[in-house]
Amino acid sequence: MTQPPAHQPAAHQHPALAAADPELAALVGAEERLQADTLRLIPSENYVSAAVLEASGTVLQNKYSEGYPGRRYYEGQQNIDQVERLAVARAKALFGTDHANVQPYSGSPANLAVYLAFAEPGDTVMGMALPMGGHLTHGWGVSATGRWFRGVQYGVREDTGLVDFDAVRELALKERPKLIFCGGTALPRTIDFAAFAEIAREAGSVLVADIAHIAGLIAGGAHPSPVPHADVISTTTHKTLRGPRGAMLLAREEHAKAIDKAVFPGLQGGPHNQTTAAIAVALHEAAQPSFRDYAHAVVANARALADALLARGFDLVSGGTDNHLILMDLTPKNVPGKIAAKALDRAGIVVNYNTVPYDPRKPFDPSGIRIGTPSLTSRGLTTAHMDTVAEWIDRGVRAAGAGDEDALLKIRGEVGELMGAFPAPGLTAT
Ligand SMILES: *Cc1c(COP(=O)(O)O)cnc(C)c1O
Repeated sequence: MTQPPAHQPAAHQHPALAAADPELAALVGAEERLQADTLRLIPSENYVSAAVLEASGTVLQNKYSEGYPGRRYYEGQQNIDQVERLAVARAKALFGTDHANVQPYSGSPANLAVYLAFAEPGDTVMGMALPMGGHLTHGWGVSATGRWFRGVQYGVREDTGLVDFDAVRELALKERPKLIFCGGTALPRTIDFAAFAEIAREAGSVLVADIAHIAGLIAGGAHPSPVPHADVISTTTHKTLRGPRGAMLLAREEHAKAIDKAVFPGLQGGPHNQTTAAIAVALHEAAQPSFRDYAHAVVANARALADALLARGFDLVSGGTDNHLILMDLTPKNVPGKIAAKALDRAGIVVNYNTVPYDPRKPFDPSGIRIGTPSLTSRGLTTAHMDTVAEWIDRGVRAAGAGDEDALLKIRGEVGELMGAFPAPGLTAT
């Protein structure tokens, strides 16, 4: 059987949708083409497999199942219970934890459940500041977590771009927070979970490792695991783990009850069973030897890309990367992050503008862009392609500075040509 082209229009793949709602079907088709034709460098995004995509579009969608397997508030759970048990067992086996809750709707609600399990409104909680690379839900002011709790924040050192553990210890011992979050959204370096655990112990705090970005790297053995060190682990399932949009909470047995109660009935109603099923599939895929290769290839590609960018005079926060993510400070190039990001988008290279630590510019118009290699690695690009990618970024940023739209269009053509040779999983009927 010959494979259909990657840009097969949605009408062919979603006949019922195309017939019932052509307007929406056209939008889905356009998005499929966009994802196929562009070089997606947003480090929190990925391409799920066709199997994950199928699982998330099943009739499991139709079932209510408040509660947990064997303890539901609705009947008819013969199959749903098995789906959730499978996902839980696979999560526990993959990460080596006592307990897993696979019901959180996404990463932010998962983190909110952790607050509900271990803290009271007004309690002090500690996390990395958002502009330093932390997440909103780690106690940042505009988030519910920063409004309902008293967030105190740590950062990275200005000279190294690395977490300042002396400052973290000092702040933790002074504030004695209920929760300490480690992990973030723009951290290009290995997280020292053991160092955080020692500080949390000294301060009497619950250590929460938020591995949303790096869960796939951990599962694939390409980043150390927080399991021996953290009290609770929070993760999304849709970033490097390459599952559906969802989340999980992992914990030692002693915290199992508190976590489960916080997710349901504390915070949520019925779990999204079609997502639970797709998480189970993604966890099964992540347990295969090929996923270890994937995780290591993501890191190898990021290193090669970082080296190729450094060779072109780019300034990378912390000087490079240990994981899937690169944070570029464009100040020396004299191009603001947002202008660069929008120009690169027109060149078919999808990135996001991002603050850099100690950014003198505003969060909505910051100095940096954030890129990563999970998506391009899923499509099969290797270290041999990273010089080309760096070259495109270099040309794109220069074109952004010069306002040269022709140069951006030329890059877009080259990007489309290369990506056409690397079909995206889930976009083709493989
Ligand atoms: C992505 C992310 C989240 C939030 O996940 P959503 O699914 O977007 O709510 C939480 N924490 C970290 C560190 C993240 O990177």
